[in-house]
This record gives sequence, C-alpha cells and structure tokens, in this order.
Amino acid sequence: MSKVIILLGAPGSGKGTQAVRLAEATALPHVSTGDLFRANIKSQTELGSRAKGYMDAGELVPDELVLDMLFDRVGHEDCRIGYILDGFPRTMPQAEALDARLDGSVEQRVANLQVSDEAIVERAAGRLLCKECGAIHHRTFAPPKVEGVCDACGGPLYQRPDDAPDVVRERLRVYTEQTAPLVRYYEERNLLTHVDGSGSPDEVFRNLLTTVQPDAEAQG
Ligand code: AMP
Repeated sequence: MSKVIILLGAPGSGKGTQAVRLAEATALPHVSTGDLFRANIKSQTELGSRAKGYMDAGELVPDELVLDMLFDRVGHEDCRIGYILDGFPRTMPQAEALDARLDGSVEQRVANLQVSDEAIVERAAGRLLCKECGAIHHRTFAPPKVEGVCDACGGPLYQRPDDAPDVVRERLRVYTEQTAPLVRYYEERNLLTHVDGSGSPDEVFRNLLTTVQPDAEAQG
C-alpha cells in the first residue's frame, strides 16, 4: 500500500529539515511545494514569475497554480510508492483536492510540528539555504563547515528573502488564518499526530519517525 506523509506546521517549524531525514529513512520522495516554486524562479519559468510576488510578500500562491504543479510532480513514477509532502496542503481547498486525488488504497499520515512563534522568528532569521541543492543550514544551530558554503554540495548559501523578520510575521499570520484549520480537519479524521518540534533536529526526528512509521526503529 502506498503511503503519503504530510508534514504540517508553521513556516520555520522544521518541516523541510525533517522531510529530508524522513525521505532518507523511508525511501519515499520528498516533495516540497516551496522548493518546486524556488526551482521555477531560478530557471525563470512563467510559473516562477507568477509565484514570486506572492512568495516575497509572505502570501500564499493561488491554489490553482499550486495544485497543477504539485499534481504534475506526484504523477511521476518515483511517487507511485508514496511521498512526503512538505508545505502542502496549506489551504482547505488544497487538502480537499488532495483527498479527491488519493483513493482509499493510499495510507495518509499527518504530523503536526509544534514550535512557538518566538522560536520560529529566531530560526528563520538564521536560516541559510543552498542556491544549488536547497540544503538547509543555520547560522547558530547548524552552521556550515565553511562559511557561506553548502556542506552537501559546495554551492553558495543565501538567506531566503521571505525569512526576513517582518515577512516571517506575515507568513505566521497567513498560517494561522489559512493553514491552521487543517489541523482540525485531519484530527477529525484521526490521521494527525502532534509532534513537539522545539527540540534539536535529532530529537524531533526520533519523535516524528515513531509517529509516521511506528513499526520502524528510530534512527539518529
Ligand atoms: P516554504 O518553502 O514551504 O516555506 O514555501 C515558501 C513560499 O512558497 C510560501 O510562503 C508560499 O508563498 C509559497 N508556497 C509554498 N507552498 C505553498 C502552498 N501549498 N500553497 C500556497 N503557497 C505555497
């Protein structure tokens, strides 16, 4: 049976960091709508240019743009066994569209990473992304071995423009308004587990793995 794991949580709650680890542990592909948009912006596609203004302002990209891009990605062969969703769904219509697409033979598990707003602003302010491969580092919590250089691929690191404190606060407001209701939606269907996202990436990962894959041995 294929499995779709959904990571819910405010921006900066650690979804991206945890999704990369989960993908390694489960062999399911990591599908991040934010990464897909950033790749489109980098390669200057029409979709990228339509999404950029919303992203820079901390707003959500309209559902129809997100859904076309996401469903195209999860239609690829590597997603037949399932996939890990990071940053999707973010609105009720997105969650409903995903449900309509997944038939009953797909197992869904949802983990909600919980982190305080103050910790989120602090995390985002120090977050550094690789321009080449998207790997996430942090000035204080996960500094690169060589300043400004990605540990994974040697590419240059940069700060996401939408990680500036005022944009992060807007993204948190948008999250509370449009994405937080999804917690209830998945809770009511008994698909959701809350995971304390405030610890170190290793601690959070151990908790996460036992919730999304209770039969597996937690790996560090
Ligand atoms: P992320 O990397 O997940 O924090 O996403 C960065 C930005 O991309 C968000 O602030 C939105 O502007 C946009 N975005 C990513 N995923 C979605 C989504 N599922 N729905 C709407 N906008 C999204």
